[in-house]
Amino acid sequence: MAVHSTPRPLARYAQDPDHSRGRRRPEPPPTWRSEFQRDRDRIIHSSAFRRLEYKTQVFVNHEGDLFRTRLTHTLEVCQIARTIARALDLNEDLTEAITLAHDLGHTPFGHAGQEALNHCMRDYGGFEHNLQSLRVVDELEQRYAEFDGLNLTFETREGILKHCSAGNARRLGELGRRFLERTQPSLEAQLANLADELAYNSHDVDDGLRAGLISVGQLEEFGLMGRLFADVRRHHPALPRRRMIYEAVRRMIGDQVADVIQTTRAALERENPADGNDVRQHTRPLITFSESMQQEHVELKRFLFRSLYRHHRVYRMAEKAKRTVSRLFEAFMDDIALMPPQQHEKARAMEDQEGTVGRARGVADYIAGMTDRYAIDEFERLFDPRRLT
Ligand code: MG
Repeated sequence: MAVHSTPRPLARYAQDPDHSRGRRRPEPPPTWRSEFQRDRDRIIHSSAFRRLEYKTQVFVNHEGDLFRTRLTHTLEVCQIARTIARALDLNEDLTEAITLAHDLGHTPFGHAGQEALNHCMRDYGGFEHNLQSLRVVDELEQRYAEFDGLNLTFETREGILKHCSAGNARRLGELGRRFLERTQPSLEAQLANLADELAYNSHDVDDGLRAGLISVGQLEEFGLMGRLFADVRRHHPALPRRRMIYEAVRRMIGDQVADVIQTTRAALERENPADGNDVRQHTRPLITFSESMQQEHVELKRFLFRSLYRHHRVYRMAEKAKRTVSRLFEAFMDDIALMPPQQHEKARAMEDQEGTVGRARGVADYIAGMTDRYAIDEFERLFDPRRLT
C-alpha cells in the first residue's frame, strides 16, 4: 500500500488545534497557520533553538564536524516522529513543535553539564533540563512585545515536559497534574518521547562506531544489530565498512519505526480511545515498541551506557566539562556582577524576589543557555589572567 503521500484527516484521538486548551496568555487565532504551526514557528525563531547547533549531544562539539550535535539530534527526532505521526494520523504539526523544542533547556556539554549544574543547584531546587526547556519557552526567551517567553499552547508545553518531580508538578498546576495522577499526555507527546529514545540509540551507534569507541563485532552480539549486520552482509558482501554501517543504522531506524507503528495501531484498536482527551486518562503509554523490540532496545541502551557513555575518552571529557560548569557556577554565584550586565540585572531582580534561591536560578539560567564554545570561552575569560575580558 502506498501510504500517506497526501495529508489525510486526523484520527479522532489526535490533538485538534481548533480545540486547544489555549495559551497562557490568550491571543487571536493565526490567519494562515494552525495554532500548532504557530508554536513550531516560534520555536524555530527562538535564540535557544539556534544555540542547539553548538551544544553537545554525546561528543563535545569541537571533537569533530561529523558527530551529532543537539541540533542534528533534534532534527532526527523530529523527522522520525513526523513519519510515525503521519502514519498514525496524529497531529504532525504538534509532533513537530514538541520535538523541535524538546531539548531547548539543555546545558552545554550534554549530560555531564546537566549533572554538574544539578549538583551546583542542589540547595536551590536543583536543575533539570526538561523543566528548563519549559522555562525557556515560558519565560526566558524575550522577543515578543506583549509577553515573556513564546506563549505556546498547552499541548506543546505538555509535550515538552516529559518528567517532573512531585514538588515541581504541584507548582505547575494543570500542566503538572498528570505527574501526580500518573496519567499520560497526548499521543503526540508520547510519540515525541519515544522518537527521542529511538533517535539517540541509533545515532549513538553510528557516532560511537565513527569515533572508534565501540566496534561492529561488539554490536553484533545483540539481537537487533546482529540480525541487521548479517542481513546487510548477505545482500551486499563487498560493501565498504562505512557504508555497511550506514546501511545497518538506516535499517535499525526503519525496523524500529515500523515496529512502533504496528504495535501502536494494534493498541489503539484495542483501547479505542474516544478522543484526544481520552488518551490522557490512560496510565500507560499507548505509543510503544512491541515487547520484543523494547527488550532489544533496552539491551542496546545498556550496552551504549557501559561501553560508550562510560568510555574512558568520553568520561575524561565529561569530567572536564563538569569542572568547567561547576567553576563557572561558583564564580558567578560568588559575584553576580561577573556576568554580563543583562544577566547580572536579571539575577539581581530574582535575588530581590527570592533571595539566594533566586540568585542561584539566575546563574543557572545564564550557564544553561551557553553553548559549549561559549562556556569554554567564558571559562578562559574568567580564569586565564592573560585573556582580556
Ligand atoms: Mg533529546
